Amino acid sequence: MSQFDLINIYGIRKDEAFQVGHDAEKDLRRNSMIGSITVGLSSGSSGNRGIFLVSEKERAQWVASILSRVIGLSLSQRTVAFFLRANSELYESVRSKLLKFTYYNIFDPLEQHWKNLLTTKPDIIVAQPSVLIRLIEISNIEALPWKVEKIISVAEVLTIEDSKRIEVWSGTTIDQVYQCTEGFLAHSCKNGKIHWNSDSILVEKVWLNKMQYKPTITDLKRSTQPIIRYEMNDILTQGKCDCGLKSDVIHSIDGRSDDVFEWMNNETKIVLFPDFIRRTIIFSHPGIVDYTIVKELVYLKLWIDGPDEAFDAAKNGLKKLLESKGINTKILKSASPWRADNGKKKRVINLAAESK
Ligand SMILES: [Zn+2]
Repeated sequence: MSQFDLINIYGIRKDEAFQVGHDAEKDLRRNSMIGSITVGLSSGSSGNRGIFLVSEKERAQWVASILSRVIGLSLSQRTVAFFLRANSELYESVRSKLLKFTYYNIFDPLEQHWKNLLTTKPDIIVAQPSVLIRLIEISNIEALPWKVEKIISVAEVLTIEDSKRIEVWSGTTIDQVYQCTEGFLAHSCKNGKIHWNSDSILVEKVWLNKMQYKPTITDLKRSTQPIIRYEMNDILTQGKCDCGLKSDVIHSIDGRSDDVFEWMNNETKIVLFPDFIRRTIIFSHPGIVDYTIVKELVYLKLWIDGPDEAFDAAKNGLKKLLESKGINTKILKSASPWRADNGKKKRVINLAAESK
């Protein structure tokens, strides 16, 4: 981002791009365009949000990818409810005789959005998992009262527990798009496995162990703001699939490497991956509805939404896991969940990395 002005081929200045993206999100301007170039902001914390630029041609390619790889072609007209941080030109372009899109700004009250969904009964819902969970809570019903064809999870990592809850409520399986500033990276297939979007993304793997790696990506179709050998901050586990797609498979997105918990034990660095911590908590008690776990210095702060015995079970599970790694640390009880400044939902948080 520090070299933004030099990297983009139109010479668009970073401060100008940020202002345009920011004003569009705040509804202070009609669109987020500079000439024919669309400006987008990623959802990082306010001080270090990524900015991305996309040309009309690149936008058309993005649309084609989403249609062919995620939504799928069908000859009947379908309606799509698309939840976004703000209405963006990028998404306006996915509009055709066969697909009718309605946009929902997630900064507007979700209660009103839920009422609209009840009237419009869309065939496909595209939203962040945290928005879907909130809609479940607002709906106050066990199951969606109409038949939805597809639910597509975007923008945030979809955890197993959220995925299950949304599936039970919606009566359909969840498709997942793995996407960020860097573009449309991966999508789920008919088997529910996540495949790299090899149509346009080239992946080089920096292996952390036999199964996990950090991807370095090159986007073969973007030139407005070229993405070349970009080192991502996510930790992924290698997977496999027999669905017939030739693209490489991601077993799980284990979280940002910033959220890895680390301790020193007699000069040896002990590392715990977010996904491991998540599983330990979730499988410790069936009564756990939600949770956050924060590492502050060497201590952990745990918040559990559930009965008292669920907290005790989660705490014991974590204690056992830590002790098996030779770590003896305090696990304190939090009265409320941890919240990011930007409202993004996170459950496993390393505070040392957050404040960077
Ligand atoms: Zn597959």
